[in-house]
Amino acid sequence: MDSVLSPLDLTAREAPEGPVAIARPHRVAAAATWFRENFPGDVFYAVKANPSPWALDALWHAGIKNFDVASDAEAHLIHSRFPGAQIAFMHPVKSRRAIARAFHDYGVKTFALDSEDELDKILAETNGAKDLTLVVRFEVSGDGSAYPLARKFGVSAADAPALLRKTRQVSEEMLGVSFHVGSQCMRPDAYRTAMDGVNRAIVKAGVVADIVDIGGGFPAIYPGMSPPPMIEYVNAIKAGFEEMFVAQNAKLWAEPGRALVAEAGSTVTRVELRKGDALYLNDGAFGTLFDATHLNWAFPAKLLRETPSRAKLAPFRLYGPTCDSMDAAAGPFMLPADIQEGDLIEIGSLGAYGTAMGTRFNGFGDTVTIESKDSPWPSMYGEATGAVVAMPKRKRAPKKQPSQG
Ligand SMILES: *Cc1c(COP(=O)(O)O)cnc(C)c1O
Repeated sequence: MDSVLSPLDLTAREAPEGPVAIARPHRVAAAATWFRENFPGDVFYAVKANPSPWALDALWHAGIKNFDVASDAEAHLIHSRFPGAQIAFMHPVKSRRAIARAFHDYGVKTFALDSEDELDKILAETNGAKDLTLVVRFEVSGDGSAYPLARKFGVSAADAPALLRKTRQVSEEMLGVSFHVGSQCMRPDAYRTAMDGVNRAIVKAGVVADIVDIGGGFPAIYPGMSPPPMIEYVNAIKAGFEEMFVAQNAKLWAEPGRALVAEAGSTVTRVELRKGDALYLNDGAFGTLFDATHLNWAFPAKLLRETPSRAKLAPFRLYGPTCDSMDAAAGPFMLPADIQEGDLIEIGSLGAYGTAMGTRFNGFGDTVTIESKDSPWPSMYGEATGAVVAMPKRKRAPKKQPSQG
């Protein structure tokens, strides 16, 4: 791993057939440090965003020791790599075997649920363990997010009080509440609104919650999507937490995925053919460009050449290497007009849900990973880093209506 070489030098040296994933562990460290300094609670990394060893190690070394997993494989990955890690199994629907293995083999004590049937499964597979932390997942609005996650998981406001009471009865240890405002959440107020809804259910149920887990959803910067500063999210969450009727010493948890790793990864892909404004690449929908194709998100792109092009920027469409017609990204991706076959393009801000989404469909999908020390993409953690804001004193004030953003 050379620090002096650029992504272009590194790619040229490897000359791989497929795309090159550029890993920037220092960007993971910057994001992790920001969260540790500014989030007034425990940070659980949502492993699905990027389970690459380099990303996990960078998080661990930056002090992230808690992990949110959703499958047996993710739990095994974290347990074997970091035996001292605290693992929370936050998928509200788990196989019985995954629950049993997590509890008996990996020492997992924290499980999410959004139904009584799942609660019964957890109790059965852990032999009625008394030391579990059970977290009730709520359905909340995904309105503030670019990728809403509502509808699939979460107990409704109507059913929540009964499930909370039932879970409290069996949970002698800790009772938590959680939600997910949707990924790439553009409105800090979405957290506060969600917390207000969860709070109503807690009050209605007459239970005491020990943990408020505000989930993931923290944004990254993409073309056309410039989120408010990250500190505004933290401030909205603090305000929401203050207004909740929870145990005096209640803990605040977060499960960021995207925000911890998005800036840390990019892909160097090669143009195999140009047809007008269409570029046919060696990476696409079934590789690291899932979101660019399926969600039609724009990502920052730049041409990598020994001698930079002086041509004007022009809009391009991208096609991936497979025969599937869905393997296409409309963009537009702004690249020099003289781009041609053989050129290398770096597509940035792909550290989250990039390599993690890849398949081997159609014989493509081999990705070489190379580490680079540069920081060429926009950052959420520039000036704000180190701006520590003290946790406000908890008060028992009556709830205010959250302001709409
Ligand atoms: C995916 C997921 C996360 C991470 O979401 P981001 O939007 O990437 O921050 C956190 N918690 C749960 C339960 C998830 O499913």
